[in-house]
Amino acid sequence: MRTKILLAILTVGLMGTLFHFQTNLYQNLKTQVLISINEKENPRSELVQNYNYEIISQDKSTVKLDPNEEKNLEIILQNIGKNSWDLSENSENPLFLKSIFPNGANSNIYASKSENWQSPALYKIHDKNGKTEIKTNDTITFEFKISSPKNAGYYKEKFGLLIENKKLLRTKTLDLDILVEGDYSDSYSYEYVDPIMKDNYLPNKEKTQEIKLKNTGKTPWYKSGNYKTYLEENGTKTETELSEYQVNPGEEGTFLVKTVTPSSIGSYEKQFVFKIKNLIAFDSSPVNFEMNITNKKVALTFDDGYGEIDPFIDTLNKHNVKATFFMLGVVAQHQPEQMRRIIADGHRLANHSYNHPDFRTLTHDEVVWQIEETRNIMKNITGFDVLPYFRYPYGAFNDYTNGIVEGNGWKWIHWTNGTGDYQHHQNTAVGRHQVYFYSTLNPPETSIVLMHIISKSTLGTLPEIIQWYREHNYAFVTVDEL
Ligand SMILES: [Zn+2]
Repeated sequence: MRTKILLAILTVGLMGTLFHFQTNLYQNLKTQVLISINEKENPRSELVQNYNYEIISQDKSTVKLDPNEEKNLEIILQNIGKNSWDLSENSENPLFLKSIFPNGANSNIYASKSENWQSPALYKIHDKNGKTEIKTNDTITFEFKISSPKNAGYYKEKFGLLIENKKLLRTKTLDLDILVEGDYSDSYSYEYVDPIMKDNYLPNKEKTQEIKLKNTGKTPWYKSGNYKTYLEENGTKTETELSEYQVNPGEEGTFLVKTVTPSSIGSYEKQFVFKIKNLIAFDSSPVNFEMNITNKKVALTFDDGYGEIDPFIDTLNKHNVKATFFMLGVVAQHQPEQMRRIIADGHRLANHSYNHPDFRTLTHDEVVWQIEETRNIMKNITGFDVLPYFRYPYGAFNDYTNGIVEGNGWKWIHWTNGTGDYQHHQNTAVGRHQVYFYSTLNPPETSIVLMHIISKSTLGTLPEIIQWYREHNYAFVTVDEL
């Protein structure tokens, strides 16, 4: 049993290295640890004990090729599992190299090969010296033929070893950087995805700007490797990384630029140039960005969570706005994916009680339970602690409730602009007009707009509300920045 646990931890450690760009997979890895420890017979760790390998040599990790060129690479592996590998003609379990393409957020890690990559997704392995059985501790030497894509540019590929009829050997990968030399003119180009190239910011704040570009060239972009992609800020050499692991032609990529905003109110121009390290790729027009520094701020807040949360997140994301979601514990239990998405997309998750009682009617213990149970539920689902931001159901409070809530370390957030949007579940002209009117009615310099997920009228007019605040020089903030 002890061996099994150690092996499981070792496996997870190696997989952690393999997938270290894919934080979304981390959740799965943690799950695997639990399974490995709790189950007496874990088929996975059994397989890793039986089938495992070490990469002894891989003669190149960076390969330079001409377009459509074929090349052999020699690779030596050692069998460090308990079982022999059968490479004979009639083997029921032949050995393959399999292309592994980690395609980012939601894809299967064993997704099919990229269209840009011409090598076979499965490549059957034979020992160069004709060995048909590779026993434990023996090595195999094989040649691996790759053929380059037809477009000049930079490509990455990962291969894992696979034995047919066995799911195994995902612990190590053979990584290749492939540089196809030639005419780069149609390999790299981009378009702005985000039309908002001007936005409002508070002075002297550490800020992460997101700049979205669409890959309109013929080669993928990568976050890592010898030819990683980044934006460079004119003059100051601020490098910024692509947030995705890989952006294929036709897909959109997000570049995160960390800056400290200027300390004086006013308008500032920023300019970024798209680059690929070690590769003089193309003459690109710079990305121009205007930063308006202001003291006015608005927190858009969405309460409860009954209804569809995703369309609100989609709309906010589309308009580059971060908002605060005061969600109920009972909603978090029923929509855990949405809670995780709120956080993953950079919005703020906050506490609005478990099931929306009037806190003035509760006992001391009931008040504590409402806020702490919700906090625990949200932490279990997302890993994020929502303390200290809380909003009272109905905005109903008194000295008694404040004593308990504040005494437990919470800061309660009210609003400046209530919209009454919960009266308008449907998306109607009357509803949209009311929500827009009250959300933008005489907002103070620090404005907090109260809206509800249940209101489709709010969703319908949200782009206009965002536009109004943006045009009136408000910076969008979440409640922690108020
Ligand atoms: Zn509410």
